[in-house]
Amino acid sequence: MGDMDKDGPFRNTLKPALLKGPPRPRRRVPPFLRSLIAGVQATVDWALPPRCALCSDMIGGMAGLCGSCFATMQFLTDPLCEQCGRPTSVKETSSTCATCLTAPPRYDWLRAAFAYDDASRSLILALKYRDRLDVVPALAGWMAAAAMPKIEAGDIIMPVPLHWRRFLARRFNQSAALAMALAERSDGIYAPDWIERTRNTPPMKAMTRKQRAENVLGAFSIAPPRREALHGRGVVLVDDVFTSGATIEELSAELRACGVSRIGVVVVARVVKHTHFQQEFELE
Ligand SMILES: [Zn+2]
Ligand SMILES: [Zn+2]
Repeated sequence: MGDMDKDGPFRNTLKPALLKGPPRPRRRVPPFLRSLIAGVQATVDWALPPRCALCSDMIGGMAGLCGSCFATMQFLTDPLCEQCGRPTSVKETSSTCATCLTAPPRYDWLRAAFAYDDASRSLILALKYRDRLDVVPALAGWMAAAAMPKIEAGDIIMPVPLHWRRFLARRFNQSAALAMALAERSDGIYAPDWIERTRNTPPMKAMTRKQRAENVLGAFSIAPPRREALHGRGVVLVDDVFTSGATIEELSAELRACGVSRIGVVVVARVVKHTHFQQEFELE
C-alpha cells in the first residue's frame, strides 16, 4: 500500500488541509502564537479545551457532545433492516425491509450511528462547515459501534470523494476524516484516493430520485491498477449523511464493475422515512 502515500495535488485527505490551515483564527490565541501556528490551526484546535459540537459548552475528553446534547441524539439500534440499516418493526418476519426486498440496493449493508434529524444535522454541519475536526473521534466511535460487527479485517475503507473544486473550497473532506478514524478503529485499510470524483455534480436539493441518479451517473472513476486491486475485496464506503442514496448507488455500481465482493456503507446519519423527520435535508 506504499503508493497510497503519494501526494496528488487534490488528494481527498486531511493532510493538505492541515498543512494549509484555515484562514481565520477563531479562538483567543496571542498574535505571536497565531502567526507561529497559522499552518496547523486544526491541530491546535484539537489541543484546546474540548467543547460540545452542538452548544459549545466545555466538555471533558473526546466526548464530542455534552450530556444534555447527547441525550437528544437518536441512535439507530436494533431491530434494523439487515441491508439498508433503517429501523424495522419487531413484528416484521424478514430481516430485510420491504424496500430492500422489492428494489435491493447495490451495497450489501449500511449502518448509521443516528437518524437524520435536527440534532445530527447540526453535528454534521459543524464538522463540515465549521472545521470541528475535534468531533471526528467521537463520531467515528459511534459509527464504529454501529458498524463494527460488519466490517471485516482487510476491508478497504474509502470516503465518498469530493470533487477537487469543492475540496479546495472546503479545505478538507469530512468523509475522509471519518474514514481515517474508522480505519484506525477497525482492521480496515484506509484508502482515501482510490476512487475519484471526475465531475463536480450540482447540489441535489430540489431533484427527484431519478434526477439524482442521473446527476451522479458516471461521476466517479477508479484508475486501472486500483480496479485490479479491488477484485474480490470487501469495501466500506464512508460518508456523513445518507439521504436518497443516489451517490452511494453510483459508487457501488463502479465498485461492482471492479469485481468488489462485498460493499458496506457507514454514515453518521441516515434519513429515516415515515417519521416526523422525513423532511429532506440536503448537505451536498
Ligand atoms: Zn451541548
Ligand atoms: Zn432495507
